Amino acid sequence: MPKTVKDAIQRGRATVGGVLQVGRTTVEDVLQVGRNTVEDVLQVGRNTVEDVIEVGRETVDSVRKLSDGTMRAAVLHGREDVRIEQVPVPQAGPGELIVQVGAALTCGTDLKVFRRGYHAKMIKPPALFGHELAGTIVEAGEGVVGFAKGDHVVALNSAPCGQCYFCRRDQENLCDDLLFNNGAYAEYIRIPERIVAKNTLRVPAHVPLEHAALTEPLACALHGFEDVQPRPDDTIAIIGGGPLGLMMLHVAALFGCQTIAVVKHDGQVEAAKQLGATHVVQATSIRNAIRDTRALTPGDRGVDIAIEAVGVPEAWEEAVEMVRKGGTVNFFGGCATGTSVKLDTNRIHYSDITLRATFHHTPAICRRALDLIAGGRFQASAFITGHAHLYKLNRVFEDLMKRSKEIKTAIVP
Ligand SMILES: [Zn+2]
Ligand SMILES: [Zn+2]
Repeated sequence: MPKTVKDAIQRGRATVGGVLQVGRTTVEDVLQVGRNTVEDVLQVGRNTVEDVIEVGRETVDSVRKLSDGTMRAAVLHGREDVRIEQVPVPQAGPGELIVQVGAALTCGTDLKVFRRGYHAKMIKPPALFGHELAGTIVEAGEGVVGFAKGDHVVALNSAPCGQCYFCRRDQENLCDDLLFNNGAYAEYIRIPERIVAKNTLRVPAHVPLEHAALTEPLACALHGFEDVQPRPDDTIAIIGGGPLGLMMLHVAALFGCQTIAVVKHDGQVEAAKQLGATHVVQATSIRNAIRDTRALTPGDRGVDIAIEAVGVPEAWEEAVEMVRKGGTVNFFGGCATGTSVKLDTNRIHYSDITLRATFHHTPAICRRALDLIAGGRFQASAFITGHAHLYKLNRVFEDLMKRSKEIKTAIVP
């Protein structure tokens, strides 16, 4: 019992205050939880609806496919215009294969094509789209030797003629009549006779198809790396943290070189470290990138080899400034048509700098690339950072244009 009236009032006030406080908190909690719950329900509802639509589409499509011989495929119509359409399932002519696509990978070249709407050498719309794939043979045309239904294969995106001046001089990547094939973002793809004969490789049983699909970009990276004739004790700077820059970095690290990854975005720093970068330079400006890279070499003398894997003229110029006397530069990233660079002739001459520019791959390099993937030291899974259904292809490319963290997305039909 309170001793005095004043105490009683005091205590009464405290009690009322407590009740109000607790009441308010309870109401706020209820509101808060209520809001979350409504949002959760909406979120789950949305996902479920999308899943249902997705599954529904697949079911409808597979029924249609069985009945009318069509398949889903991505068709490039122009700039940022790729449509998933029902097209006839291809049939194998003499010497050809039909491959059921197990995985098709997104690639910087496809992103360029998506943005521009075409590629002068490789693809003119309307056309089937995508070129990094591995899958299972479902049909072998008349006269095909060495392959049978059920085999897992990786079919490269091109094959040289074998007859021209360049082919006869072991420069098949420069073949006058390089035959390109597109259409990997689809359920099935036709492999032309020449690619079957020269550039289709059997995938060993222990290699997942999506890893085997890395053969093409890895062949380009290996080619660029071998072209600079590296020694295991070399220090190599790789400019660019895109899929090919990271692949080149990983190849150099596996070869035993000291590597300096010059990248721009935070996500690329982590990826570079995981793939074996000895040092990572996060470039805030070209000036700083050159200074910071040279600072990592004895007496700031510069790196033995610099590889440009961005594909912009400023980065080509940056690469030349990073190498030591007698060093080698590979302009690996292709720039837009009509661009040019400004180089210090004195520096190139008196410092005896070797300039290279590697393009594409040859059948022999493609075989070495698949061997590297199958060998187990190459971290194939680090390059495939996402999976998406063919229906989401447009969204995948839109995200890639926004410089998402993804390295490569496996498109599964
Ligand atoms: Zn590619
Ligand atoms: Zn040729």
